[in-house]
Amino acid sequence: MSIYAIKTVAVLGAGTMGNGIAHVFARAGYSVILRDVETRFLDRGLETIGKNLDREVKKESISAADKPVILARIQPTTDVSVLAAADFAVEAVPEQLDLKVRLLKDVDAVLKPGVILASNTSSISITQLAAQTSRPEKFIGMHFMNPVPVMALVEVIRGLATSDDTFEITKILCERLEKKPVAVNDAPGFVSNRVLMPLINEAAFAVMEGVATPEAVDAVMKMGMNHPMGPLQLADFIGLDVCVNILEVLQTGFGDPKYRACPLLRKYVAAGWLGRKSGRGFYKY
Ligand code: NAD
Repeated sequence: MSIYAIKTVAVLGAGTMGNGIAHVFARAGYSVILRDVETRFLDRGLETIGKNLDREVKKESISAADKPVILARIQPTTDVSVLAAADFAVEAVPEQLDLKVRLLKDVDAVLKPGVILASNTSSISITQLAAQTSRPEKFIGMHFMNPVPVMALVEVIRGLATSDDTFEITKILCERLEKKPVAVNDAPGFVSNRVLMPLINEAAFAVMEGVATPEAVDAVMKMGMNHPMGPLQLADFIGLDVCVNILEVLQTGFGDPKYRACPLLRKYVAAGWLGRKSGRGFYKY
């Protein structure tokens, strides 16, 4: 399918990432089919999109009149058969291999044959997910960053079988969303998490070993390295449980103990200190 034929985009999952992905496609003029398993998740996703659009109106990046037009482009559904109308699809369901595999098989069976199927996975092998579908050459990683409407980067990950056409179309699509695609090959953690997670992990080790407080570690990285957020503040934002999961993927994927999750991270997760979402992590919220 050519880039010009892409008018309707299916987004699977209306959670943190899915509602952001639906937002940016609708803002760029695409019709969006937003699919989740229950109406209440769709309602919550649409409410978030509404709030984020209000923020954009306030910042004057869109006009007040744009908001209802953008929202009207998004069709929420719990019905998989509706996906037959899509010309491009992105999945953003939870990071569990069995769940993604089940979803991809269902979606693959309904989508038109020429349609590209992208995954927003943070850590699962694109090659492995592609192999679960009948269209491995039309399968690609499209790793948006959180919050999607704000962050410019999309890591575009080529699986072993991803065709040049699929890669080119996905890249152009990112540009139409006013995002900056960066090409990456399929490897554990891609580039983003392979580089970020050891930084967060080392920051946690520095705290555990009494080298510095979380505030001091973050101050050094913010003022000294010009990072907009310190690594521990960022870890709290991402979720400490998510960080531990990704470190495990890196350690298993590379078979290298250098990715071993810091025991302090594990202790916080065991205590339910997951970061912002639980009210406490390295910091209290
Ligand atoms: P989330 O839990 O916020 O949302 C997932 C949504 O998928 C939920 O609304 C859930 O009801 C829905 N869902 C579950 N099964 C489904 C199905 N079969 N069909 C349709 N919807 C279904 O998760 P999230 O944080 O948005 O993460 C989604 C994906 O994005 C994961 O692969 C994650 O690794 C990746 N990711 C997350 C972040 C982040 O910062 N949260 C950043 C980059 C990538």
